[in-house]
Amino acid sequence: MSSTHVLVLNCGSSSLKFAIIDPNTAQEHLSGLAERLGESNPQIKYKHQGQKHTVALNAGEAHQIAIDKLVELVKSLGLDKELVAVGHRVVHGGEHFTQSVLIDDTVHQAIVKTADLAPLHNPANLLGIDAATKAFSHLPQVAVFDTAFHQSMSPTAYLYALPYELYKSHGIRRYGFHGTSHYFVSTQAIKALGLEQKSSRIITAHLGNGCSVCAIKDGKSVDTSMGLTPLEGLIMGTRSGDIDPGLFSYLVNQLGYSVEQVDTLLNKQSGLQGISELSNDCRTIEEAAADGHPQATLALDMFCYRLAKQIASFAVPLGGVDALVFTGGIGENSDVIRAKVVEQLSFLGMEIDAQANLDARFGKEGEITRSGNTTKALVIPTNEEWVIAHDAAQLAQEQ
Ligand code: AMP
Repeated sequence: MSSTHVLVLNCGSSSLKFAIIDPNTAQEHLSGLAERLGESNPQIKYKHQGQKHTVALNAGEAHQIAIDKLVELVKSLGLDKELVAVGHRVVHGGEHFTQSVLIDDTVHQAIVKTADLAPLHNPANLLGIDAATKAFSHLPQVAVFDTAFHQSMSPTAYLYALPYELYKSHGIRRYGFHGTSHYFVSTQAIKALGLEQKSSRIITAHLGNGCSVCAIKDGKSVDTSMGLTPLEGLIMGTRSGDIDPGLFSYLVNQLGYSVEQVDTLLNKQSGLQGISELSNDCRTIEEAAADGHPQATLALDMFCYRLAKQIASFAVPLGGVDALVFTGGIGENSDVIRAKVVEQLSFLGMEIDAQANLDARFGKEGEITRSGNTTKALVIPTNEEWVIAHDAAQLAQEQ
């Protein structure tokens, strides 16, 4: 084994996803998830050499304990000697961060400051950074931001039509998320199609529990559907996506909602879940729709309609579209949604190849439009962990 492995950490408020990856080969030497942290029955599940294991934690044990156990595990498997860096997924980098960075005191402070913009995400990411810095004090810690790829957007695309002062004094603007994924799959698509990056026009659709679309011109993000927070844009599992902001005062003034209740409604009770009144899980919705469940059918139709509309609108900043890329749990697996979306975009010069669409599942990459189509659609499995490992190893080497 070469000594280039990176421990990749993605720390949520009650979970910690981890992997040890060789960025040169993309091989995962360890992967796992610590879940229900801080709750009554936390546990760590991990996979090593094809074998799955579960370790129970004590009630209430949280991130630091999970990382301490992870350190013990990494050492007992002899993987610690191979590590060159720890790479952290950080959700919000604000305007400070246009690329991945080594974490020092100044960077740490800037991430703390940016937590105002991402109160649900950045504090959890910081828990992971602090615990890992304590546990692996000899290793460089690197932050890879979900927002960084979108920092190439112009003010025309990123500003809201609000008083400019709100942007100047408080940084209120569109930032976009899923940047690591949009970057990875667009780069792969350019390679797969043999395009010249400097004249390429790609739209990427990251469709998972969170969903966003990105317009990528000449390899750079020029627009994306998420905004100040990951709530803007597409219909998602439990998030509403775009709504009339006038709804807010209606809910508060007419229906007596509190700010917190509106926030919960839009983030946790809407989207596929809200419309179907059944589930936020796309598989359940598809199965119910196939059985004739009217609200599941409606949820699926609305999801695809809004997605197709958003994709079509990105032909404007791109001035045409060479390729549409589907990724994320839904994008990589749902032939049903891909077919519905491509059908609504037929005016862009794309037609689904039914067999190729069925074949592109479970981690398989593939072109799913017919040969000769002017706009191509592809399925490309995302690999955010690999990008984090790659950036962390590179920055560690350069320091
Ligand atoms: P992610 O956040 O990328 O893990 O994606 C989670 C979403 O992918 C959930 O809505 C799942 O229902 C959806 N998903 C996973 N597998 C499939 C599948 N075979 N068909 C449809 N949706 C799927």
